Amino acid sequence: MTFDDLGLAQPILRAVHESGYTTPTPIQSQAIPAVMAGGDLLAGAQTGTGKTAGFTLPILHKLAAVDAKRDHHGRVPVRCLILTPTRELAAQVEESVRTYGRFLKLSSMAMFGGVGMQPQIDKLRRGVDILVATPGRLLDHHQQRTLDLSKVEILVLDEADRMLDMGFIHDIKKVLAVVPKDKQSLLFSATFSDEIKALADKLLNKPQVIEV
Ligand code: AMP
Repeated sequence: MTFDDLGLAQPILRAVHESGYTTPTPIQSQAIPAVMAGGDLLAGAQTGTGKTAGFTLPILHKLAAVDAKRDHHGRVPVRCLILTPTRELAAQVEESVRTYGRFLKLSSMAMFGGVGMQPQIDKLRRGVDILVATPGRLLDHHQQRTLDLSKVEILVLDEADRMLDMGFIHDIKKVLAVVPKDKQSLLFSATFSDEIKALADKLLNKPQVIEV
């Protein structure tokens, strides 16, 4: 199978080719069609398997296919929220979003703690389609009403097992309570403890299950 067989939009294929990738990895050849089809996904995948492109490519494809509904200020609301356990991973995932989306007109942002709130507020005001965030700072913004999560169409929990290990379960539950019920949800985890299974049961609706 090649990337061209997956039905991704031309600007995305161009970015993928320019990254030097020729063949989708196993997680990509399974996750990309599943996400494009619109259903929920439970994926068991370690880092290094190509999981990041596995979810970012089909997300970019879906968001680029439909224009964002702007709010009454004319701003683009957050349409896709990707939660990660660490700043480093948030920065890395957002870098991938930017690389694969560079021929599209979608905006993205990495959001994490340990840096000032104001630059993040300014960036949010300019409109963000894809937000990659760690849970704590995300909730700080939500509590201060500088972030609207009511238009999220796609939610990704990346490295969910690490988020639980780091004690983020309460934060994750708070996030789940403020995003729309009717959305597409993707959960990526390297391991499947009972706690992950319980979270998957709560979040995912008849998910396709992929293990690589
Ligand atoms: P990840 O598992 O998402 O952290 O990706 C691991 C590494 O594999 C990253 O450096 C990617 O740039 C690279 N990569 C992802 N997909 C492919 C692919 N289909 N072919 C070659 N390299 C890839």
